[in-house]
Amino acid sequence: MAIATINPANGETLKTFAPLTAEEIQSKLARGQSAFVRYRKTKMGDRAAWLHNAADLLDKNAEEYGKIMTLEMGKPLKSAIAEAKKCALVCRYYADNAADFLKDIPSESDGSSAFVRYQPLGIILAVMPWNFPFWQVFRFAAPALMAGNVGLLKHASNVPQCALAIEEIISQAGFPEGAFQTLLIGASQVESVIADDRVQAATLTGSEPAGASLASIAGKHIKKTVLELGGSDPFIVLDSADIDGAVAMGTTARMLNNGQSCIAAKRFIVSEAIADEFQQKLLAKFQTLKVGDPMSEDTDIGPLATASIRDEIADQVQKSVEMGAKVLIGGKPLAGKGNFYPPTILTEIPVESPANTEEFFGPVALFFRVKNIDEAIALANATPLGLGASVWTNNEQERDRAIEEIEAGAIFVNGLVKSDPRLPFGGIKRSGYGRELSIQGIHEFVNIKTVWIK
Ligand code: NAP
Repeated sequence: MAIATINPANGETLKTFAPLTAEEIQSKLARGQSAFVRYRKTKMGDRAAWLHNAADLLDKNAEEYGKIMTLEMGKPLKSAIAEAKKCALVCRYYADNAADFLKDIPSESDGSSAFVRYQPLGIILAVMPWNFPFWQVFRFAAPALMAGNVGLLKHASNVPQCALAIEEIISQAGFPEGAFQTLLIGASQVESVIADDRVQAATLTGSEPAGASLASIAGKHIKKTVLELGGSDPFIVLDSADIDGAVAMGTTARMLNNGQSCIAAKRFIVSEAIADEFQQKLLAKFQTLKVGDPMSEDTDIGPLATASIRDEIADQVQKSVEMGAKVLIGGKPLAGKGNFYPPTILTEIPVESPANTEEFFGPVALFFRVKNIDEAIALANATPLGLGASVWTNNEQERDRAIEEIEAGAIFVNGLVKSDPRLPFGGIKRSGYGRELSIQGIHEFVNIKTVWIK
């Protein structure tokens, strides 16, 4: 994919960027390595002050950064501005807590003393997706920088201006030169970067094939990876649930970011006794959503980020319909310029159809009816993915069973699945491994050094 800003609202190519040459990559690696040698010795207090500066810049210029995001990947401007502000939160969270998360941990031993010390590893490569083009990067960068690592960012090829803006924010905040660099490179150039001896570890947020490729190359070179991959999160609504609350949150959970979120509510699994009412109310809610120019204040759903994403979701819906699924609303891309796809609900989904077997990365809700909690849990788990899950019930036993039995990295009861700097985030099964955010996130890329003294 060419590295370019292509406005998803009208298909216009606004700016293209030449990928770095092999020599330019070498020089960035050399700069990163020499930055690390100095940066690892900087004081926690200095790193925290720089990260607070980054947070202030993100807040102050949220609208400017929001416009870059919306221009490049099409999310409604109001959510893009909110995303920039959320990045400020994660910066402040790690600026305020990292020293505590990384302090020495004393341990019993047969020596006179023993403890664990957390030390930085060096250059960490982050391969990031376009869907939350600021948030995904800052939730990696804030803990990595506080731990004394330096970062190299290979961002998605359709958000180069976001990538450059992030590098600029971190530099303007006062971090030393080379502590965080953007590499404008294509996916095929990632292998040479991971293989380089100066790169110690890598994290990737994105699709399964990309994650598998990165992890296998890293494995060959014995380097640690964290993978945050896809999700096909269930949104389970049981008899005792607050139906109106579930409908409102379910709509947000499915439509956030034009339906392109790894933790979106993709499969609505609803108890038969309340299914008709829930379905009608969900449909009524979807009918109110306004699709249009993502820069407009009153737009709920903008265009999908690229034409190929729109084509893929259109194809998945069409195949599912050909196999017997029913369309309640939407179901076909909108005519005209831009990658617009309308809010869609599919029901009566055949077991073999893509709607039951694949991740749907767009504004399409997949509706399933179940008899009871046993069927709900079985269906929720009948996927190779295991990122998040949301369950709606006011019955304590059902709640406890869902918490215990649903295979996911996170479960939210009577709420939508979301990321929060204070809570670990990540998946199981083919959704990946490792965790971001919270104390667990900062411990992913450190040397957990055992110290024993006689
Ligand atoms: P993608 O194609 O995998 O792209 C993600 C990043 O990986 C981009 O920077 C991309 O670069 C790069 N990449 C692609 N193929 C690669 C390869 N073979 N080797 C190294 N790098 C490679 O993902 P996407 O389609 O943009 O994003 C959608 C997927 O990401 C969905 O499955 C979604 O659920 C998942 N996701 C997961 C999370 C999470 O936290 N778990 C969050 C957001 C999204 P180019 O752009 O240059 O191809």
